[in-house]
Amino acid sequence: MAVTPLMQQYYEIKKQNPGCILFFRMGDFFELFEDDAVIASKILGLTLTSRNNGASGATPLCGFPHHAADRYVPKMVAAGYRIAICEQVEDPKLAKGIVKRDIVEIISAGTAMDESNLNAKEANYLFAYVPAEKEAAFAVADVTTGYLAVCRSSVQAFECEFSRRMPKEIVVPEGAEIPSSIMDMVKADNVLVTQIPEFMFGEEQSRDVLFSHFKVESLVGLGLDGRDAETKVAGALMAYLMDQKKSELSHFTGLEILNLDDYMTLDPSTLRNLELTRPLNADDYSSTLCSVLDHTVTAMGGRTLKDWVSHPLISVSRIQEREEAVAELVQNPVALDELKESLTSILDMERLMGRVGSGRANARDLAGMGRSLSQASKVADVLEGLRSSIFEGLRNTLENARGRGEELLAQFNEDLPLTVREGGMIRPGANAELDAMNADIKEKREWIASLEGRERERLGIPSLKVGYNRVFGYYIEITKAQMAKATGPIPEEYIRKQTTVNGERYITPEMKECESIISNAEVNIHELEYRIFCSLRDRVDGWRAELQEIADAVAKVDTLYSFARAARKYNYACPEVFEGSGIEIRGGFHPVIVAVNPDLDFIPNDVSLSPDGTRLMLITGPNMAGKSTYLRQTGLIVLMAQIGSFVPAESARIGVVDRIFTRVGASDRLSRGLSTFMVEMIETANILRNATPHSLVLLDEIGRGTSTFDGLSIAWAIVETLHDEPARQALTLFATHYHELTGLVESLEHAGNFQVAVQEKGDKLVFLHKILAGACDSSYGIHVAEMAGLPNNVVRRARKILLRLEKEKIDPSDGAVKKKQKEHPQLDMFAPPDENTQLLKDEIRRLKPEEMTPMQALQRLMELKENYGK
Ligand code: ADP
Ligand code: MG
Repeated sequence: MAVTPLMQQYYEIKKQNPGCILFFRMGDFFELFEDDAVIASKILGLTLTSRNNGASGATPLCGFPHHAADRYVPKMVAAGYRIAICEQVEDPKLAKGIVKRDIVEIISAGTAMDESNLNAKEANYLFAYVPAEKEAAFAVADVTTGYLAVCRSSVQAFECEFSRRMPKEIVVPEGAEIPSSIMDMVKADNVLVTQIPEFMFGEEQSRDVLFSHFKVESLVGLGLDGRDAETKVAGALMAYLMDQKKSELSHFTGLEILNLDDYMTLDPSTLRNLELTRPLNADDYSSTLCSVLDHTVTAMGGRTLKDWVSHPLISVSRIQEREEAVAELVQNPVALDELKESLTSILDMERLMGRVGSGRANARDLAGMGRSLSQASKVADVLEGLRSSIFEGLRNTLENARGRGEELLAQFNEDLPLTVREGGMIRPGANAELDAMNADIKEKREWIASLEGRERERLGIPSLKVGYNRVFGYYIEITKAQMAKATGPIPEEYIRKQTTVNGERYITPEMKECESIISNAEVNIHELEYRIFCSLRDRVDGWRAELQEIADAVAKVDTLYSFARAARKYNYACPEVFEGSGIEIRGGFHPVIVAVNPDLDFIPNDVSLSPDGTRLMLITGPNMAGKSTYLRQTGLIVLMAQIGSFVPAESARIGVVDRIFTRVGASDRLSRGLSTFMVEMIETANILRNATPHSLVLLDEIGRGTSTFDGLSIAWAIVETLHDEPARQALTLFATHYHELTGLVESLEHAGNFQVAVQEKGDKLVFLHKILAGACDSSYGIHVAEMAGLPNNVVRRARKILLRLEKEKIDPSDGAVKKKQKEHPQLDMFAPPDENTQLLKDEIRRLKPEEMTPMQALQRLMELKENYGK
């Protein structure tokens, strides 16, 4: 049996869009067939049915009302699918045979534009990548806002950029190999990989795409002269996007050439370990730096803040420019409140431009843009009272908003419809022709409007109703109950049109005539309103370059505002940044811990690192003392200084760093087949290969993942390298539980021993969380274990074993790990008598008879006899 013509059309469209789940519009429904139906029914929880399509057997089928697509598309996209939306592209009433259908849009993770798919304060990045000799060429786009940037860099820099942008999708030429470090992230974050034909990356093809899109005639105008690889990748990405969106995407107005050297390098592990934008433990957003700093009012500000946090600056003057602006706001709470007020009702202008540029804007969007523009001029008013150079520039840009918002708003009604073809958009008085057309039927409309009152009176039925429905227009409804009360019969001209459960619906010839005059006129009115709307939309589209600058300025003001709010809220200080090396922090604290636990009595600490003095701080102290906290807070303070924010400290002098390296905590990637120790060593190798004297290196518990002697030896060698090798002499904080290293550090000129103070109070250990000079004399591991509730007998046994081990002491003084006894000590499980004596002495020393009841004393005595009396 042959397939039906409808299914033929379906298969045709399906074939042209491989790799997509096809949402096939049929009347008021979207239908899915075959495998698509099976997949979607599972993800969307739809009932799978089947239909005889004329071929042998039945076709699996599922469907839903078309308006549900708003909810279902995001779900499918989130599950990693690419959705092709196929609409009826001609009026079914006018169609001869099968209604014409076509794909109107393809939606995937990186090309989604609908708000329901997106987080307002997160960019929706899409990458394209091609290998370029030994390097990488990549482009980044955000189709929701029209952001486009290209870059050629080392593969490692590409990897860093990829991880800080967290894209949803990456586009590559078919068959191209994605670097394995990128593949790791792709897998971990479920990034969608899209392969497109290699020719789309062709030089000529790409150039044509860019020339025609940006309306330029040479690459020079785009800054792409001599940048072949960047041209290819940018052109391919634009071509892909336009193809997916079936639109010109006029909101892409320019292209940025990224220079990654302008920013501090943050590799994926540092991004992760410092929890800048993403928490280590999924879902706990409050543990990120962004959550503490983000007091932005607008969605655009929220995105810019994330961008700044993940792209700290290197240039002292640029940092100071931001800092100066933040400082001015910190001093001026009145301006802060005024800014907040004027920013509050600014909508996401960037994404509104995206809607305009991709042809999906309605009157609400344009009016929203109008309101936002008029608010943007209010922001400019506030900035007028401020002096910082950055504000001056931003104000000049915002001045461009003046008048435009009012111009738009003057055209639109207050309440606006979602549709653009059914009138109701344009304000009376805005267009003379429209006003005249409305005036022409004014009388008729009033006649209809007053009909109900007139007929109520005439028939003596005070609750008679005039209603309207799509099928037969206006009608008069009289219920049976009303009928009974009527003062006279139903007038002769009443024509019964419909009988309902409760009564009758009538029309009159006069009514119908009036109605037909109105509806004929309204066709023209709607048509005219639509034309006015389109011209307003084109007007806004024509402003796109200015509007994007205005939006960008709003976002920056908002971000600076946010920094100032955080600085006031948490009592931050303005850091002094300088070109050169050295970190001097007084009273530093951890921004996130303090923000999340407002009642915690956090102990502030100092840091002092300089190239000529102490370059490397070795920090010892028991578990839970606060070593990791100290390392992280130092990293965060330096980073905050370089994004232009104030810092959580009493005072800070920060020589700008080119890179922060971290090896903090055990971030296991077992899911990717890497053991903790392997990850640790990969990260450490990266540090030792790439650190410079301008870097800040934070190493936490290096070597923990392997046996004591292995680990100690590795840690030892790392300390030596970071200290001795001129190219690697980074400023370093090195937290360790290997006390053996303290001896080594004493012999190194530019390294110093520090400890986190603890106080031993009898059995208890009190953590003072204070960093002091000097080495910690014990790791107190058994103390901590005891405090954690390890059973008494285990603790006692551990003490015994420790004593034995300490006998076979490691001697670090001659610069090598040396054991006095055998290579692999087999622990004698029965300690010799002299050790027992030592242990007994210890236990007696720790007894507190004055705090014991006689019963406890007796019990303790029996335990001692049990353990030592034999
Ligand atoms: P370590 O790395 O030495 O084992 P952590 O840095 O993980 O210790 O800190 C252990 C606990 O001590 C954390 O829960 C933290 O909240 C608290 N802490 C750390 N530093 C301080 C401080 N300076 N003031 C108050 N509490 C602190
Ligand atoms: Mg720790």
